Amino acid sequence: MYLSRTPFAVSAAVLSVFAQESSAQCDRWQQRVSYTMDVSLDANTHGFKGRSKLVYTNNSPDTLHEVFFHLYFNAFQPGSEMDVRSRTIEDPDDRVGGRIAELEPDQIGRSEVNRFLQDGKAAELEPLGTVLKVRLPKPLLPKRSTEFSYEFAGQVPVQIRRSGRNNAEGVAYTMTQWYPKLAEYDHRGWHAYPYVGREFYGVWGDFDVTMHLDSSYTVAATGVLQNPHEIGHGYPAGKKMVRRPASDKLDWHFVAKNVHDFAWAADRDFVHTMDQVPGGPTLHFFHKDSANLVAVWKELPGYMVRNFQYMDAHFGKYPWPQYSFVQGGDGGMEYPMLTMITGKRRIGSLVGVSVHESVHSWYYGILASNEGRFPWMDEGFTEYAGSEVMQELFPRPEDPHASSFDGYRALVKSGKHEVPSIHADHFITNKAYGTTAYSFGEMFVHQLGAVVGEKDLKAGLLRYFDACKFKHPEPIDLERVMEKQSDLELDWYFDGWINTTRKLDYGIRSVLAVNGELRIELERLGEQLMPVDVRVEYRDGRNASYHIPLSLERGVKKATAEALPFTAVDPWQWTDPTYLLIIPGPLAAVATVTIDPLGRTAEIDVTNNRVEFPEGTEGFAKP
Ligand SMILES: [Zn+2]
Repeated sequence: MYLSRTPFAVSAAVLSVFAQESSAQCDRWQQRVSYTMDVSLDANTHGFKGRSKLVYTNNSPDTLHEVFFHLYFNAFQPGSEMDVRSRTIEDPDDRVGGRIAELEPDQIGRSEVNRFLQDGKAAELEPLGTVLKVRLPKPLLPKRSTEFSYEFAGQVPVQIRRSGRNNAEGVAYTMTQWYPKLAEYDHRGWHAYPYVGREFYGVWGDFDVTMHLDSSYTVAATGVLQNPHEIGHGYPAGKKMVRRPASDKLDWHFVAKNVHDFAWAADRDFVHTMDQVPGGPTLHFFHKDSANLVAVWKELPGYMVRNFQYMDAHFGKYPWPQYSFVQGGDGGMEYPMLTMITGKRRIGSLVGVSVHESVHSWYYGILASNEGRFPWMDEGFTEYAGSEVMQELFPRPEDPHASSFDGYRALVKSGKHEVPSIHADHFITNKAYGTTAYSFGEMFVHQLGAVVGEKDLKAGLLRYFDACKFKHPEPIDLERVMEKQSDLELDWYFDGWINTTRKLDYGIRSVLAVNGELRIELERLGEQLMPVDVRVEYRDGRNASYHIPLSLERGVKKATAEALPFTAVDPWQWTDPTYLLIIPGPLAAVATVTIDPLGRTAEIDVTNNRVEFPEGTEGFAKP
């Protein structure tokens, strides 16, 4: 029900006529790349050598005179930006801090590019740490393609962070961030970020990768194996007989379409199993062959099939034919069509990390926002959807997103809170980055439900996925989709929460009985704006809930599918420090008055959110 006497109700109805129009949101130009790589890995020296042919299409309106590549493995060298940053940040990450400085020459990572040609003409190369600048001999005009061909070589570092050889669980090769990777160019320009610690951004494209290595290794990779009949190792060959070539090497040929990175892992000891999501991808599982692991990993596929089914139904359709869960790396790290996770876990922890990393497929993999600029749009949204999946797999009575509010509040309390819009590598502390990317991001989505309503939040997230998949969305894209979905104006929410560290605090100032009515005076104590929910509980067990929209919303959330049915009242004019909510009395019937009764907002001080009225109370006024 909507009780407002303002004209908002009329304008919202008119707006909704247009709300179903197809969305042009996210329709910005995208660069395109196609890699053909051929690489040999020497398991004695841990060195690798390869050739790459890369077709780059410039869909931008700009003429490009240079391009950039990431050479991530160079981060694992004493004195690199990753090394120095990991030692000088005030709260070092134990996985990295100090370890790179100790690496011997045969343990470091290396990545280099040689003999670079653009359409047959030699290009000038300027490597600097983890980034290579290539001066193009021929400018690349708008709407044109060009072909780069080059040789690359390097050394796989001992495992420090994400990638490397011989991880803590004895997995031989975690090959992530391993090849010279073209940097992304978008409407904000080049994103040739050095590899300092945080995550990634890449160009959409197709990968055709052939790896040559000793035949004793089993390989897991982004993409679909093209020659299973020459490989075996648990890959089904269909009707063909597996016939391995008479050589001590195997040539593994993988193709991945429409992805922005390519990762792989190899071990001599991998057990490889599969399961099928009905109507969805084939799931592959790779883990070391030890009795404990075999027992726990046997339980994983059933949970993961349900995970993919739930995500497909609620957050959008997974588009690729395959997904692999691979023991490797140093915890859990997402890649297109694949994740590297540590595997020595109890089943609850194994399911938890597998849900989180695979749910990244929707945010990191398919939407693929720039994780340098908007890390919370990946980690936080993944946490949000992952919490919903975990609630489906292991139902609990509590709000599955409550811990995101706890994390955010702890960060604010610590004094380390920074503006979420800072680049991921530039937060002053690891704690501020981590809490912002994960807890704040999840909280931002969940709290948006308190503004637009639960039904429009869920519908809006699906609509966002469909409008922005494969398009690198930014905050404005989600904002516009949610505005169209809810018929509300939401710029104040996005600006206030993303671009400031302002805090949210509403409180109850007084509750007084006047002429048989109840006058509840509320006050805004923080600088952050939100609509306000108020619940009145009566002594006879009844209760009534009121929703006070913020004037800037130009409307009110729909009352359908709300956990707490509410009466919408007049909006709170945003400049007003206080608001008077007048409801029927008498005071003697009232037991409690509570702001944000479901704990759906990031109220920084909840002690002023609730007033109790013992029998015989005359009212309440803040001291
Ligand atoms: Zn994550």
